[in-house]
Amino acid sequence: MFDILTDSFTNAIKKIRFNDDDKALTKALDELKKSLLRADVNHKVVKDLIFKVQIETKKNGIGKDQFLEALRNALYELLEIGGNRGFVFASKPPTVILMTGLQGSGKTTTTAKLANYLKNKQKKVMVVAADLQRLAAVEQLRQLTQQVGVELYEDESTKNPVEVVTAALKKANSGIYDVVLIDTAGRLAIDNELMDELEAVKYAANPSEIFYVADSMTGQDAIKTATAFKEKIGIDGVILSKYDGDSKGGIALGLSSQVQVPLRFIGSGEKIEDLEVFLPERVVNRLMG
Ligand code: GDP
Repeated sequence: MFDILTDSFTNAIKKIRFNDDDKALTKALDELKKSLLRADVNHKVVKDLIFKVQIETKKNGIGKDQFLEALRNALYELLEIGGNRGFVFASKPPTVILMTGLQGSGKTTTTAKLANYLKNKQKKVMVVAADLQRLAAVEQLRQLTQQVGVELYEDESTKNPVEVVTAALKKANSGIYDVVLIDTAGRLAIDNELMDELEAVKYAANPSEIFYVADSMTGQDAIKTATAFKEKIGIDGVILSKYDGDSKGGIALGLSSQVQVPLRFIGSGEKIEDLEVFLPERVVNRLMG
């Protein structure tokens, strides 16, 4: 993960030759800017980052160490939006998570990946099949939850996700579940019908958090749709899926600051174990070598 982004970063840092003057700093910043744009990091994000690095380096006396320190701080600030990272458990179980996203984004697969991640942490997980729009979604979830070895709540006698969620939570609340993951319906694009359904499901589920699964291969569109979901139903975190298919990787760097919601996990493959927690400090360390 982050291979191309890391490579271009490492190359830019390697090229920096510092003579403790303004000209050297301008050259270093130029290299950095080029490498970020090559990795498809959003223009405005790059501009802001470069500006911060420039100001902080100048403030502390131009030098390679100062430059690297300023870059490390600016990157960390960029990624550390909203504070919380990874999976946050509710104070009283079960922790209810609503999984949202557009059709094809990888939402159902990511739900299973998250179930697997939590099961490996010895948590008792219930997955709820509330995507009753896409015909194959329930069957897909059945197979995936069997593979992971967690319980699936499903009811094919109804097309009403609110009914399914209400019954599932009744069962979960009286049971021994630590986490309930609700797979909701997506659409090909954002429309009122989708948002109305999600609002109703959200009301019935009263989730601790709402995750939005964004397909990283859609580039800046992933930012736009995540922002729209944030405005319409409110999201607490983004999971970037299909990061393995994104040739550049820059989207992970700008997402948190662009959407103003923390990036929580990254999916990088079709297998259920292909999910990684997004931890800013770990990412910064990897990028800076
Ligand atoms: P949904 O409609 O949002 O529920 O999407 P699915 O979970 O069915 O995923 C759509 C397709 O994307 C499936 O073929 C998944 O195997 C694939 N997919 C999901 N996540 C990833 C990922 O991180 N990497 C890759 N390469 N494929 C993924």
